[in-house]
Amino acid sequence: MHPPSVDRLARSLAHTGLPHPLLVDVARSSIEAGDHDRAEARALAVARSLLQPVINATGTLLHTNLGRAPWAASVDASFTNLEFDLATGQRGSRQRSVGQLFARLCDTEAAMVVNNCAAAVTLVTAALAAQRQVLVSRGELVEIGGGFRVPEVIEQSGARLHEVGTTNRTRAADFERAAAAPGGDVAMALLVHQSNYKIVGFTEATQARDLTDLRDGDGNRVPVVCDIGSGLLDAACPWLDEGPPLWLADEPAAKQTLAEGADLVCFSGDKLLGGPQAGVIAGSAELVAKCAAHPLARAFRPGSLVMQSLQQLAMSYLSRDGNAIAFWRMAARSADKLRARAQQVAEQLDGTGGTVVDMHSVPGGGTLPTVEIPSAGLRFDGDLTAALRAHEPPVIARVHDQQTFLDFRTFEPEHDAVVANALRNATSGGPALDT
Ligand SMILES: *Cc1c(COP(=O)(O)O)cnc(C)c1O
Repeated sequence: MHPPSVDRLARSLAHTGLPHPLLVDVARSSIEAGDHDRAEARALAVARSLLQPVINATGTLLHTNLGRAPWAASVDASFTNLEFDLATGQRGSRQRSVGQLFARLCDTEAAMVVNNCAAAVTLVTAALAAQRQVLVSRGELVEIGGGFRVPEVIEQSGARLHEVGTTNRTRAADFERAAAAPGGDVAMALLVHQSNYKIVGFTEATQARDLTDLRDGDGNRVPVVCDIGSGLLDAACPWLDEGPPLWLADEPAAKQTLAEGADLVCFSGDKLLGGPQAGVIAGSAELVAKCAAHPLARAFRPGSLVMQSLQQLAMSYLSRDGNAIAFWRMAARSADKLRARAQQVAEQLDGTGGTVVDMHSVPGGGTLPTVEIPSAGLRFDGDLTAALRAHEPPVIARVHDQQTFLDFRTFEPEHDAVVANALRNATSGGPALDT
C-alpha cells in the first residue's frame, strides 16, 4: 500500500486544531519515518508542547519549570503612554512611572526595571565598574539556577572580580583592606544573597550595614550593591493581614537592605515579589541614572506588557492587598484550610484510595533552601503523575517511593474540581475528560 500524500494526511489531522503548516510538517515527518499511522499522535504531541496553563500540585510555590510566580496582568491591545508624557506632550521615559512606584515601595530615591535579576546585576556592574574592580566575598561567588554565575557575570560586564575573605567567613575588615589597597581600582562591593544554599557552622558574613563607610585608597566612598535575589520588598510584609510568615525569617528584604546602607539593591520580579519575569534595580538616584544611561539598558529593557504587569503588581503592594497577588495568597493559606479542601476532594472521589495527609510546601525558585511550609493534600498509591499530566488541563504532581502526592497549597480552590476530575480519571485508568 502506498503511503498517503503529505497534503491528504495533513488535512486528515485538521481536528487537532493545529495550523496547516504545522500539520504538513507532522505529515511529512510521519511519512518519512514510515509510521503515518501515528501521525495523529505526533500532531497531538506537538499541540501538547505548546505553552498552556497547568495546575501546580507539586507543593513548590515558585517552580522554575512551571514559570515561577503565577501572575496575570489584564492588558488590552492598545497603545499606551509607555514613553510619552501626557502632561507635556513630549517624549517620556518608560522607566519613570513604574520606577517611581518601586522606589516608593522600597522607600528609596529611584528604581528601574530590566528583564530579570541577572540583567540587573550585569547592568549595574557594567555601568559602575567596567575596567575596574568589584569586591565579592569568597562565600558569595554563587551559581543560581539557569547559569547565573557571579564570577562570569562580572567578567561579562567588563569588570574585574576581586575576591575577599574566605568561603565560610568574610568580615568588614576584609572588604576595607581590599578597597584601600594601594594601586587598587575598586569601583564597588557586591554582596550576593546565598539564595539557594546555606553555609552552616563556623561562619560570618558581611552585611550592607557593616560597609556603610567603605573607602578606597584615596578616601572616596565605595558603593555597596546588594543582589538580594528573591525580591522580598519589605520584611514587615504590610500586605499580609497576619504579618510576615515565620518561614520568611532570615530572608533579606529590599527596603531594610537599603535602609541599612546599601546604595543599590537588585532583585527578581518572579520570585518572592510574585510578578512577571523582570529585574529591579533600586536605590541611589545618581547610581540608577548611571545604569539607565548605559548602552546595555537599551538591550535589557522590558516591553510595555511587562511594565503594565509590574505596575499592577506595584499597585497591589501599595494598596497592601496581598490577596490580589497569587503567590502571597497561596503562600499565606493555613494548612487547616488546605486540609479541609483535600478532605472534600477525597470525599468526592470515594473509593479511589486517596488519603488526606500533612505535607510540606517549599518556596522554590532558588530561594529559602531550607524552608518548609506546613501544608496538606492527598496521597495515592502508585505513580499517577503521567496520567495526571495527560489531563486537560495538565495537573503536575509529585511522586516519592511509588506514592503520588498532591499539595493543595500551590493551586487555587477554584481548581479543586478540576483536580478531582483528573484524579478520577487517573485512578480509574479512564480517559482524561475535558472540564
Ligand atoms: C535568582 C537570583 C538571581 C537571578 O535572577 P533572575 O531573575 O532569574 O535572573 C540572581 N541573584 C540572586 C541572588 C538570585 O537569587
